[in-house]
Amino acid sequence: CGIVGYIGTEDTKEILLRGLEKLEYRGYDSAGIAIVNEAGVHVYKEKGRIAALREIVDQQEESTVGIGHTRWATHGEPSQVNAHPHQSASKRYTIVHNGVIENYVQLRREYLQDVELTSETDTEIMVQLVERFAREGMGTEAAFRKALSLLKGSYATALLDIEEPETIYVGKNKSPLLVGLGDGLNVVASDAMAMLHITNEFVELTDGEIVIVTRDSITIKTLAGDQVVRNSFIAELDA
Ligand code: GLU
Repeated sequence: CGIVGYIGTEDTKEILLRGLEKLEYRGYDSAGIAIVNEAGVHVYKEKGRIAALREIVDQQEESTVGIGHTRWATHGEPSQVNAHPHQSASKRYTIVHNGVIENYVQLRREYLQDVELTSETDTEIMVQLVERFAREGMGTEAAFRKALSLLKGSYATALLDIEEPETIYVGKNKSPLLVGLGDGLNVVASDAMAMLHITNEFVELTDGEIVIVTRDSITIKTLAGDQVVRNSFIAELDA
C-alpha cells in the first residue's frame, strides 16, 4: 500500500499510474487516483490490479495535479467503494491515506453524527473532518492541521481542495512519506522508488508534519502551524 501525489507541468494520469506500479511490491487490493482540471476533480478507483484501474481512467481528461493510492484494506472490505480516494460530503475535498486511524469511531461520534458516510473506511473520517472544520470557518490548511491533530494512529496522506486546485496538502505520522523536488514540479510518495522517474532530489518528513505543496514551493509545518526548515538530499538510486 502507498500514496503518490504530483503537481507540475506534465499530464498527471500516467505519472500517478507509473508511481503506483512502483509501489505494487508493498502489496494492495485496490487502487485509485484523483486528478484536477478546470472541470473539477475526477476520481477513478477499482478493486484489483493497477492494470484494471488504468483501463477505467479517462484518457481525455488532461490534468497536471493529482493524487493516487494503493490500498491494503484495514477497515472495510476490499471493494470499489472502499478504495481510495475518498471525498467529503460536498465533494470539495478528496483524500488518499495509508495507515490506520485508531480512534475513528470516537471522532465520528464526536464530530460527524450528521454526516452520511459513503464507505466503511477509517480514512473517510479524515476527509469529512477537514470539511467539517472548513464549514466552521477555517481555511483548508488550518482545518487539515486540526483534523490531523485529533487522529490517533498512523497516516501518510494527501488532500486536494477543489477551491485551491494549485495545491496538494500532505501529512505524515508513523507511515513513510517523502517529498520529491523538481523544476516547476513537486511530487510526494511513500517510497523514493515511486518518484525516481521524475526526480532524485528529496526532502524527508518527520512525524507530525504537514507539507503544503505547489508547483514551485514546498512549505513544511508542524501540526501547530510552525514553519520547519529542512534541507533536501540527492539520492543515488537506480530507477
Ligand atoms: N486504513 C485505510 C483503509 O483501510 C488505509 C489502508 C492502507 O494503508 O492502504 O482503507
